[in-house]
Amino acid sequence: MTAIIEQLYETRDIPDTELKLLIETKHYDRELFQYADKIRKEYYGTDVYVRGLIEFTNYCKNDCFYCGIRQSNRNLERYRLSKDEILSCCEIGYKLGYRTFVLQGGEDPFYTDKRIYEIVSEIRKKYTDCAITLSIGEKPYESYETFFKAGANRYLLRHETADTEHYAKLHPAEMSLENRKNCLRNLKKIGYQVGSGFMVGSPFQTTDCLIKDLRFLQELEPAMIGIGPFIAHHETPFNRFKNGDLQLTLRLVGILRLMFPYALIPATTALGTADPQGREMGLRAGANVVMPNLSPVDVRKKYELYDNKICTGDEAAECRACLSRRVLSAGYEIVTDIGHVRSLKEQPKK
Ligand code: SAH
Repeated sequence: MTAIIEQLYETRDIPDTELKLLIETKHYDRELFQYADKIRKEYYGTDVYVRGLIEFTNYCKNDCFYCGIRQSNRNLERYRLSKDEILSCCEIGYKLGYRTFVLQGGEDPFYTDKRIYEIVSEIRKKYTDCAITLSIGEKPYESYETFFKAGANRYLLRHETADTEHYAKLHPAEMSLENRKNCLRNLKKIGYQVGSGFMVGSPFQTTDCLIKDLRFLQELEPAMIGIGPFIAHHETPFNRFKNGDLQLTLRLVGILRLMFPYALIPATTALGTADPQGREMGLRAGANVVMPNLSPVDVRKKYELYDNKICTGDEAAECRACLSRRVLSAGYEIVTDIGHVRSLKEQPKK
């Protein structure tokens, strides 16, 4: 084993200079993926957890420069799902074996705290054995607390980049890294299992930004870490930027697995969009979660975060079957399980 991989494998950490080397060259990839897979199997066996993703609104008051559902995109038909529509997605998902529902959307003021409270409470009442995950952006402490009381127990909020200047190049002036970090800290304090993460290859990103991302995650210790390549959307200010690199994204998945052995790391839809085999490669690089789409087929194309997003045409059951095949072909297996994080202190599965 090369010294750099050995140190990362044994101690879960390496100095910045070595991280830089690891990130910038393909030299270590084979060994990195081999050890990432080894440690993933020690902690999680070949199990892959599923999260049913319900994209319930594409309205957004924010204007992130990379995102296709940003407010300024006037060439997008907007939609919202009703409580009953969301519940029927959950019902379909439950039958398919999903024990986690992720409600994701733009920051849509129509869904007041009261409305989210009602939706979450109703899902909680019906599905006591499931996790309810929210991914609806930055909110005040009290709102997060309200949703938690309703029964939400997980929250996904990527920090996007942990470099202040880089953050300012990706977002309008009203948004700040400091606020995003604060939200993440608040979510943890309330008791949510938190997921964070970043885009790989977003415009103006440097290796130093990526190192800061990893350092920030060490500080936050999230249960889940989601990363995916940046993919340009034609109706955004970043329409002419080139997409994030697939191999670099996979390399970062491997690094994340070695630094955070316990973490839930999804093989994301963006990875699957960057390459038809992207998610399978992500699993082999250390990922252990997939997030099939549970949104009604007629709204799927409208939740267009980036161009050519995959899985916009299939019914939920088809998505489930397709993913099962893909996961098996990569050498792993989807399990019907709530899929909690294995704690830092827990001994690895042998
Ligand atoms: N409003 C919610 C959900 C955002 S969409 C929130 O603020 O958390 C979920 C994720 O999609 C984002 O966190 C971002 O990392 C990713 N995303 C958005 N636009 C993208 C693009 N053009 N390419 C790749 N990923 C993108």
